[in-house]
Amino acid sequence: MAADPETTATNPTRMEDLVSLCARRGLIFQSSEIYGGINGFWDYGPLGVELKNNLKAFWWQRVVREREDVEGVDSAIVAHPRTWEASGHVEHFSDPMVDCRACKKRFRADQLDDIGPCPSREGTSEHDLTPARHFNLMLRTFIGASEEAADTAYLRAETCQSIFTDFRRIRETSRHKIPFGIAQIGKAFRNEINPRNFTFRSREFEQAELEYFVHPSERERWFEYWLDERQRFHRDLGFAPERLRMRPHEPDELAHYAKAAADVEYLFPFGWQEIEGIHDRGDWDLTRHSEYAGRDLGVTDEETKEKFVPMVIETSVGIDRTTLALLCDAFEVEELADGESRNVLRLHPVVAPIKAAVLPLSKKLSEPARRIAAELRRHWNVFYDESGNIGRRYRRQDEVGTPFCITWDFESEDDGQVTLRERDSMQQERISADGLVAHLRRRLEGAGGSEAAR
Ligand code: ATP
Repeated sequence: MAADPETTATNPTRMEDLVSLCARRGLIFQSSEIYGGINGFWDYGPLGVELKNNLKAFWWQRVVREREDVEGVDSAIVAHPRTWEASGHVEHFSDPMVDCRACKKRFRADQLDDIGPCPSREGTSEHDLTPARHFNLMLRTFIGASEEAADTAYLRAETCQSIFTDFRRIRETSRHKIPFGIAQIGKAFRNEINPRNFTFRSREFEQAELEYFVHPSERERWFEYWLDERQRFHRDLGFAPERLRMRPHEPDELAHYAKAAADVEYLFPFGWQEIEGIHDRGDWDLTRHSEYAGRDLGVTDEETKEKFVPMVIETSVGIDRTTLALLCDAFEVEELADGESRNVLRLHPVVAPIKAAVLPLSKKLSEPARRIAAELRRHWNVFYDESGNIGRRYRRQDEVGTPFCITWDFESEDDGQVTLRERDSMQQERISADGLVAHLRRRLEGAGGSEAAR
């Protein structure tokens, strides 16, 4: 991943084509669509949920299961309100907001470059903006039957805070010594002023976060270690290398408690944008929660008897943003030799929603073809389709990123062989139906995937 921002890379994907494909094939679409949608909220359909689950499984496999030093948790979305006072969110988690007095639209004061003309003013197209004021991004709710301020709670704005508040229990029950990590995947909510760019900036989204607790003398080393690990993760997802970069934060961008931070950025069709943040958060969180909860969250080294508050290296990746980046990276409208074109999603097999489709050449062949599909389904997510001409059926699979299509034809009845067609090259080969599982396993999982994303 290059740190050099001077890149000539581009992303030719047209967002409107991708958004339309996602709706048409039921990957991702507006939530509450029949009511006209709700801004900043999205639903994942049958294929979208497979794609997103595969990404989460790949992360969990890499960050939790393959490691001896990381444990997983799944904590409540609503935490004790003091949590958000201790974390600084109640006081500081806000964006500067301005209103247009004429058209009544709201904008982020730091994102006014592309807000377009005001539709409501006469003689000018400029908005009539108010001075900026701070708008807290946490979504509020009430617990119990009353709506008193005392019963106000917040939907979590990030998944990591409960990792800090659970730190002591998890350390004690899992008997880990420093260094070790706690990981979580879950929903987070932010009342973004301007949700935009499809799912990129939503009000409800998922994060996959790791908080890695280290001795203060080792924080730089572990920060560097996690930078490397997280770059490897994104490379292994198959992103075009020239569309990924690591951008270290400038000193004036750092949160006041942070010593170092870097973003993993992807070149979306709308520019370079963060998909993951890696932060050295120091001892801020554990110290604040110790103070607010009145519980000592420090640790004692059993050998040296040294007492210290661990430092935290955090890796925080947006699942929805990374899913969107994967789609933008994979989508292509390919011109074919015969003058036709096809839509293809060149997704890495580890994240592809469907791993293989079984397509009998004729409905008369459905029985043996269904038997093959049932056998393959014991291993992977497999689609069966017997209607329409075979060319159209291939195209439908290309468009949702299915790496392999398997055709059972009249010859198969005699020789026990099937046609295996590969998505990217469109090349076809005949292979024995008996060896299909082993063959697919080699090709799907040999591509760098793992058992996690089946
Ligand atoms: P941004 O500056 O783009 O608002 P951030 O720096 O506030 O992002 P973090 O708080 O570091 O983001 O959150 C970690 C990750 O969570 C981000 O890298 C991103 O992938 C994801 N994320 C944050 N806000 C949103 C959102 N509104 N919609 C979708 N994903 C989000």
